[in-house]
Amino acid sequence: MSVEFPSGAVPLDSQLYVERPPIESLVCRELVTPGTVIRIRAPNGMGKGSLLLRMLRHAESLDYSRVKIDFQSADQSIYESLSRFLRWFCANVSTQLGLPSRLDDYWDEDIGAKLSCTLYFEDYLLEACPKALVLALSRVEQIFEHAAIAKDFLPMLRFWHEQGKQTESFQRLRLIVSHSTEIYVPLNINQSPFNVGLPVQLPSFTAEQVQDLAKRHELPPFSPDGLNQLMQMLGGHPHLVRTALYHLSTGQMSLQQQLQSAPTQAGIFAAQLQNYLSVLKKQPDLSIALRLIVTGDEAAEIDPMHAYRLNSLGLITPQGDRWKPSCDLYRHFFATQLFATQHWETSNASPGSLQQLQQENERLKQLVHLDELTQIANRRYFDQQLQKEWDRMLRKRLPISLLILDVDYFKRYNDTYGHMSGDHCLYQVAQAIQSCSRRSSDFAARYGGEEFVVLLPQADRVEAQRLAQVILDAVRALKIPHCTSEINSDYVTVSVGVATMCPANSGMAADLLSCADMMLYRAKQEGRDRAAVSLGLGSMQQTGTT
Ligand code: GH3
Ligand code: MG
Ligand code: MG
Repeated sequence: MSVEFPSGAVPLDSQLYVERPPIESLVCRELVTPGTVIRIRAPNGMGKGSLLLRMLRHAESLDYSRVKIDFQSADQSIYESLSRFLRWFCANVSTQLGLPSRLDDYWDEDIGAKLSCTLYFEDYLLEACPKALVLALSRVEQIFEHAAIAKDFLPMLRFWHEQGKQTESFQRLRLIVSHSTEIYVPLNINQSPFNVGLPVQLPSFTAEQVQDLAKRHELPPFSPDGLNQLMQMLGGHPHLVRTALYHLSTGQMSLQQQLQSAPTQAGIFAAQLQNYLSVLKKQPDLSIALRLIVTGDEAAEIDPMHAYRLNSLGLITPQGDRWKPSCDLYRHFFATQLFATQHWETSNASPGSLQQLQQENERLKQLVHLDELTQIANRRYFDQQLQKEWDRMLRKRLPISLLILDVDYFKRYNDTYGHMSGDHCLYQVAQAIQSCSRRSSDFAARYGGEEFVVLLPQADRVEAQRLAQVILDAVRALKIPHCTSEINSDYVTVSVGVATMCPANSGMAADLLSCADMMLYRAKQEGRDRAAVSLGLGSMQQTGTT
């Protein structure tokens, strides 16, 4: 037989589709649930499109109406405005259902695009689907790239799902949302539809499934050794395995030849690997985190956000609370490539010595302590330093102070100016905070979201309070416009909680944190854009606006 080259979804009539029980039966069963949302999320090449095709075939056997929208096929111009986008969406669904467009009857600028679209579905499209409408949305990641559209469209889908609990028409809607995890999703996850409904993750193939797929390619079965080596190299990744089997079936390369050249630019996976490399080159912090993982003997610990993103790319998998490469292909390829491209440019020593590797790993560990967005220290590093400095001050019998800062009305800032401006604002605020601390032992970190901390070993209350004031002024001086802030200021401001303690025992470092946090709460209550300073248990003092 002639074997198809692996590209796109596996056609319905192909014998090369290997089921991954219980996923297929699970999702098909779920399709009959009124108002269901099924979310398929996986990196590229894991079989999302193939599964979607099979779900639609099942829907057909149930006599359900079916619509598939692939956002990759959409013109970029539809993303210009929400109204444009939703009209395109409605028109597309109408056409696929063979219904004439009645958009102009339903579109009413006074009630807004989201409601117009909802009514169009409820009163018109869903009415025309007597049993159920399976609406399959694929490559939804395209929408994530358009934050202004995503922030309305995704909550609308979520609203439809909620409606399905009450209204009969929305019960007929069965939504499938499929998206690649290969792009970083800067969305507030609570607003997206992705935390509702049935989540489906696609696992890699098991050794048995790879053996089965070889048989479907009419190849002789692998020896236990051969199978083992193949699994080790490719980790059962469906697209990589298909590619390997395709090349075996054309008879141009033996398994051994393939395995040898796999992690090189001359191997059959060069194109995919090159793609990853160009993604990583644009994100140096991710490359650094990945290098740490591929060059270590053991699973490595990295910043959770980096881990999340590398995992979303499919490059790493968890092992306990640490991370390792998903397969040897990635381990070997990135170990050589990331080393070749970044490291040896800055170093004159010859590559490969053990000492060099260890030094390099140390340096990488330092670098992964950086918060990527704000380019100041991250929380993990702060947690380590807090304990270290607390213990140091305990030995020296000196005070230690901590500031916790929180941007005022930042949610509104995002709502008003968009998430991208929000990110930039956080960067500016973080840099301002960092530049205010003068002594070498002081350091600022991003504690999470729009919260920052500044740790001040040896600083007493007066010094800490002075620094809080300096920071309040520095943030105001940035003059970042914030027209929806409730504070009597048109600019972005922060609130600060200040705590000072003299460590009495090693186990109490967290008290400093909770005390500062309590003070931050006070500063918020007292009107924001100010610091509240703890004077010991139960008392406090304020540093107001200037
Ligand atoms: P308050 O004055 O009481 O602090 O109100 P607030 O709106 O600042 O506080 P809230 O905790 O309600 O909202 C914090 C917002 O910060 C919500 C969240 O979306 C946003 N945020 C958290 N992390 C990031 C980020 O990395 N980038 C952006 N743009 N926004 C973020
Ligand atoms: Mg906050
Ligand atoms: Mg806030």
